[in-house]
Amino acid sequence: MKFKGGYDLQLKGVPDKEVRELPEPDLLYLPLFSNLINFSQLCVKDAEEVTQGQILAKDAENYSLPLLAPRAGTVKLETVPHHITLEKIQKSPDEAFNVETDIPEADKKLGSLEKKRYALLRLGAWQFFTDATTGAIPDPIGNPRAIIVSISHLEPFLACAEALLNNRISSFSKGLEHLHSLVENAPLYLILPNTKSAYAAQIKNIARENSWIKLLEVPSKYPFDNSKLLARLIGLDKGPDKSPVWCVGTEGVMAIDLALTSSKLCISRIISIGGPGAKTAGHVNAIIGYPLTMMLETYREDSPTRVINGGVLTGKALGEEQKGLDIECQGLTLVPEHNKRELLAFTRLGFTKHTYSNTFLSVIRPPFRERYTTGIRGETRPCISCGFCQDVCPAEIIPHLLYKYADKNRLEEVERFGLGLCVQCGLCTHVCPSKIEIKQVLFEAQEAVKQELLSVEQHS
Ligand code: SF4
Ligand code: SF4
Repeated sequence: MKFKGGYDLQLKGVPDKEVRELPEPDLLYLPLFSNLINFSQLCVKDAEEVTQGQILAKDAENYSLPLLAPRAGTVKLETVPHHITLEKIQKSPDEAFNVETDIPEADKKLGSLEKKRYALLRLGAWQFFTDATTGAIPDPIGNPRAIIVSISHLEPFLACAEALLNNRISSFSKGLEHLHSLVENAPLYLILPNTKSAYAAQIKNIARENSWIKLLEVPSKYPFDNSKLLARLIGLDKGPDKSPVWCVGTEGVMAIDLALTSSKLCISRIISIGGPGAKTAGHVNAIIGYPLTMMLETYREDSPTRVINGGVLTGKALGEEQKGLDIECQGLTLVPEHNKRELLAFTRLGFTKHTYSNTFLSVIRPPFRERYTTGIRGETRPCISCGFCQDVCPAEIIPHLLYKYADKNRLEEVERFGLGLCVQCGLCTHVCPSKIEIKQVLFEAQEAVKQELLSVEQHS
């Protein structure tokens, strides 16, 4: 594989590898929305008593993906808008869930393969699958042309492989075997960052023992964990076959093992809580719907802090309206709010500041981690054509050129210069000395192109 671009960001606040258990809450706020999922179809009524694992809502646009009750309790639909609140919650014993009794009558004659895929959907493991070519959730009944398992997040502050795999390597190995058994003749690519960690040696052993695994080592630089980019680098975007490329991360492989080996519900996940605004940065095992204020109270600094759902480069600031942990969250990143202008900032020569351009005196220091704040981006200035965005872009496009066309709404030109290749990694925005929100502009251009294509399709 030929890698271009990428960048090793050195920022303070990287979570440690320990996974902590959170105290049991009194209630849960289950968001009906997340990045890809929208639970538009409610399956319960206000004040209804539900059991652990009962389906509370479904995403009608995504193969009826279920929102499961992580605990038994009483449903409240009006307490918080766009959430299902579960009150008087009770934890049930961690027992196997009988999926067979839950299969709709019409589907009772499913073959063993379909039953396995149904179990993944019903037990909450299908949410971990995406199509690497479109970024959407794939059809559980469809057949992929390949599977990519990307072991570690390379974006700063997101859950790391060491924490996810700690004492669970055999579960990961079994999950891979189940994943392989779900498809016929589709190659399985296991993507491992090039590190010397103990977990890397264990992963290599698993790959050595299973000839159906194609192990690919990638540079340990962001964003070489990006599934869209990996699919392209492997060459899966070529040829007439347009079937999906399933992409699953380490957590997803664990969820597959939990669902198919033990028939247990996937109602919690390991997420990172870190970033330069965190008092302590680590990993927690949290159930879906866990109250965010309760989760953050021991981690957040007392000074104003922005909470980002995801990593600093690809995540979105959490709005006041979200009260509980959503089904897709991989990490919460805390960044100090810094809105004040620094008086005579130009007189400080920047021993503590990094830039891609090596403008500051920090270049003469040995490597160090910088304290990132929301003010690090400062004010937008015109593009100075420095080319840094082009250097780091892993998609081999020219971000500043696309940005200039997109800014003038010249969509045909943006398309011609490779808009479709942008994987939305955000590195261009991060390194830009003029603080231009290139990623956001290109994202809006991609959305505008999608809308145009849709309206052409509807009118033809
Ligand atoms: S990094 Fe920013 S200033 Fe430099 S070429 Fe790209 S858009 Fe222009
Ligand atoms: S143009 Fe797209 S792929 Fe390239 S660096 Fe920017 S966000 Fe990443």
